[in-house]
Amino acid sequence: MTSTFTVIDPTTARPIREIARADEAQTDAAIARAVVAQRSWASLPPVARADALRAFARVVEAHAEELAQLEVRNSGHPIGSARWEASHVAQVLNFYAGAPERLSGQQIPVAGGMDVTFHEPYGVVGIIVPWNFPMTIASWGFAPALAAGNAVVLKPAELTPLTAIRLGELALEAGLADGLFTVITGSGSVVGQRFVSHPDVRKVVFTGSTSVGMDVAAGCARELKPVTLELGGKSANLVFADADLEKAAAAAPGAVFDNAGQDCCARSRILVERSAYDRFLELLEPAVRAWRVGDPADEGTDMGPLISASHRSTVAGFLDGTNVAFRGSAPASDDPMLGDGFWFPPTVVLAEPHDRIAREEVFGPVVAVLPFDDEADAIRLANDTAYGLAGSIWTENLGRAVRVSRGVKSGVLSVNSHSSVRYWTPFGGMKASGLGRELGPDAAEHFTETKNVFFATE
Ligand code: NAP
Ligand code: MG
Repeated sequence: MTSTFTVIDPTTARPIREIARADEAQTDAAIARAVVAQRSWASLPPVARADALRAFARVVEAHAEELAQLEVRNSGHPIGSARWEASHVAQVLNFYAGAPERLSGQQIPVAGGMDVTFHEPYGVVGIIVPWNFPMTIASWGFAPALAAGNAVVLKPAELTPLTAIRLGELALEAGLADGLFTVITGSGSVVGQRFVSHPDVRKVVFTGSTSVGMDVAAGCARELKPVTLELGGKSANLVFADADLEKAAAAAPGAVFDNAGQDCCARSRILVERSAYDRFLELLEPAVRAWRVGDPADEGTDMGPLISASHRSTVAGFLDGTNVAFRGSAPASDDPMLGDGFWFPPTVVLAEPHDRIAREEVFGPVVAVLPFDDEADAIRLANDTAYGLAGSIWTENLGRAVRVSRGVKSGVLSVNSHSSVRYWTPFGGMKASGLGRELGPDAAEHFTETKNVFFATE
């Protein structure tokens, strides 16, 4: 008998569906089908692969509302965000549909003949994704990997497999060959580990926690298998006294409470120049209280529930012994519609640099506010973390914006804004936040190995 797991709606705590848990033999069978499908796919003319990805993009776009509604139920994402995520998947596919015809090699001058390079696909790529942005993060791996001529096996997180499963069905509907893009549901320790250990999976893309990511990287090292890691973060939102403080305060809740703080790029530390500290907190409080927490199916909602009961206890545990300045709202436990959901109110904590809340990733709607003295102190504090994923710098001084953005050791920074993700610009972290980059103009090439061939003419 096949074992299953239950997918839960985090807004109501009610079960949605039973999903099969693949074992190692089923994972191996899917990888074997991927090996076969990849050979035909890689031998197609570039334009045929481009057309196939455009067809996949069109089918996803046609099902964007269905995918969005599925994400609202499975992940509790507000419907507005979920619609953005579904369209984003189609856009990522369209963008990398332009790659097959642009993966040009080089011609290098060598005496006595001709030297050329080829971008060869790895073969089968294994992609392991977390539960916080199930379909977007999956697409950052599968779209460029397929474009470069690879087959893909994808393992969604057990908490949130529904949109990934649907994307696998839509790929077949769009005409992708069976086995070329296979979604395998199951546990990380079985399916995910098999991607790491199986000799026919030639590259692994992992997004998730730093601790599991280190294990995945160690396993890949034993197989001499390249690995891309997108891990945790403790990103800083640096607010200088010369910033437009109204604008910075109004934008700060979105930068950390979006997706209930379950975002690797969450600006979960707000570092404020001491002379503007009191004024900034005065402006921040109404912005946090106005953050609308509630039914994710409602168009006016800014933030839904946390993903699970156990994650809610973890987040709550981070508040032990902290100095809470103020909190926003959340549905109450006696609310007949939403009472059982995994709610957590947006919370603002005043902290010191050595406090746990200022150092560890909470992955929930909690932000630590700390003062700094000057520009050098701001950069030092921003870098006083094991992580280095994202960050924001609020200042009206251009020279300072340049100096601080060069000084902060993070992969993705934003000045006078909190944006992190555009599919056509590179994304990824430094230090404990990861290895390698996704998205941007070069992502398809990252799913290839360079082959050099010399043709003697004499
Ligand atoms: P996680 O526990 O590391 O899980 C991530 C994925 O890895 C899931 O699919 C999980 O499967 C699988 N997995 C678990 N153990 C595994 C193993 N031994 N071998 C192979 N795969 C394994 O992370 P999470 O709790 O889902 O996500 C939260 C973390 O992800 C946070 O730290 C966050 O910062 C990070 N994150 C980073 C980014 C980024 O782009 N940098 C984006 C999103 C999230 P199961 O479903 O079976 O657990
Ligand atoms: Mg986990």
